Amino acid sequence: MEYTVDKEKCIGCGSCNLACPNGMGMGSDGRATVLSNAEVEECGGTDLCPYGAIVEEDEGKAI
Ligand code: SF4
Repeated sequence: MEYTVDKEKCIGCGSCNLACPNGMGMGSDGRATVLSNAEVEECGGTDLCPYGAIVEEDEGKAI
């Protein structure tokens, strides 16, 4: 599974980064970024974000 951050939903709270520092990072725009899909998967995937900003990349959308 591949994940991406919906930048419009991400409020930059940093909780995904705290919970999964190897999987999620914070970008210079103040929003989270996916560092490792495998790590995010192990940390709980979309459940990492209480705001629903971590979404599964599907339907052929390119990263
Ligand atoms: S993706 Fe979610 S948990 Fe991570 S910084 Fe953004 S709002 Fe917070």
